[in-house]
Amino acid sequence: MNSTNCTVCREVRKEGANLLGVHICEVCLSSIANVGMDDVKYEYYKCIIKKIWLDYITGMNKINPQIIT
Ligand SMILES: [Zn+2]
Repeated sequence: MNSTNCTVCREVRKEGANLLGVHICEVCLSSIANVGMDDVKYEYYKCIIKKIWLDYITGMNKINPQIIT
C-alpha cells in the first residue's frame, strides 16, 4: 500500500492525492473532475471509483478479523 502508482493510469507519479487508501495522480484527478457524463471515460472512471470503494470496505473487514469469527 506504500506504492505511489496511480490506481487509475498505473503511472508512477509523485503528485496526487490519497483517496480511501489508494493513490490517484493529479492528472487522473483532474480528468475525473472534468470528464463529461457523455464521455466514454465517464463509465471507466465510475467503475474505478466503485472498485476503490469496494476495496476500502473489504480492507476494513480485514483489519478486525476477530469480529467476524
Ligand atoms: Zn493517474
